Amino acid sequence: ATGDYDDDNIFAKVLRGDIPSTKIYEDDWAYAFPDINPQAPTHILVIPKGKYRSWADFSATATDAEIGGFIRAVGTVARDAGLEEPGYRLLANAGEDAHQMVPHLHVHIFGGRPMGPMLS
Ligand code: 5GP
Repeated sequence: ATGDYDDDNIFAKVLRGDIPSTKIYEDDWAYAFPDINPQAPTHILVIPKGKYRSWADFSATATDAEIGGFIRAVGTVARDAGLEEPGYRLLANAGEDAHQMVPHLHVHIFGGRPMGPMLS
């Protein structure tokens, strides 16, 4: 992880259990929980357990095991949520232009309704 990771960000607190969350999935590499402000009938956040702010520092400094484990977890969570059919959307906001609000790498999984056009 890079030196500018904020240990007090909300998802760091979720990982520590300082902020309560409902565990949907957990393994050595990843943790998944429902978004507090769901934008779809299913709206799950998947985060790596390591201290990564963005895809840039994750790809630059995470081990292959961390990267593989995290990506595998995203697919597992989507499948276990029953979203393979009729489908789902993955979204990862990075940085200011993308409105990343929480500076711990995360992937949103949206499902349970037609998602419509991709960008707004
Ligand atoms: P971002 O814009 O950074 O990609 O999205 C951050 C997401 O985290 C938002 O969808 C927001 O609703 C969610 N969120 C923020 N605080 C909390 C929290 O304390 N618990 C949970 N479960 N989700 C949160």
